[in-house]
Amino acid sequence: MIDSVKRLGKIALIVSGTYCCSLLCLELPSVILSQGIESQSQLEELLAKEKKKLNCDKNIKAKLTFDYNNPISIKNEDGSYEIFLSEFGHNVSTLRHELYHIADGHLDNPNRNWISYFFWYEPQAALYESFGLKL
Ligand SMILES: [Zn+2]
Repeated sequence: MIDSVKRLGKIALIVSGTYCCSLLCLELPSVILSQGIESQSQLEELLAKEKKKLNCDKNIKAKLTFDYNNPISIKNEDGSYEIFLSEFGHNVSTLRHELYHIADGHLDNPNRNWISYFFWYEPQAALYESFGLKL
């Protein structure tokens, strides 16, 4: 029984590791080759341009920050959204990724959990970020 649990644990580790590496391989070239964002005004221009591409009219503010390890997007209590691009994410590719989460309603689902995020929302945002594909 213990051997079976250990074997199952190893399989789960291998599968999840492979999945994470696949996502990283999908996003990394796009991030590396992406145009950098140097200033807040440039970010605001790019945000407006990218919102038009996604036909998104949601109230979104974006900030270049050094406060977070990873880029994040949040929904505020007043219904507006914010994107925080961390130092690693000061580029158009990451902006597109975070914007896709908002435009596609990923932050609006009250039932979202780490499974839906990790296996549905994250790959969608990665595909949009890398290839412009909307699922
Ligand atoms: Zn994401």
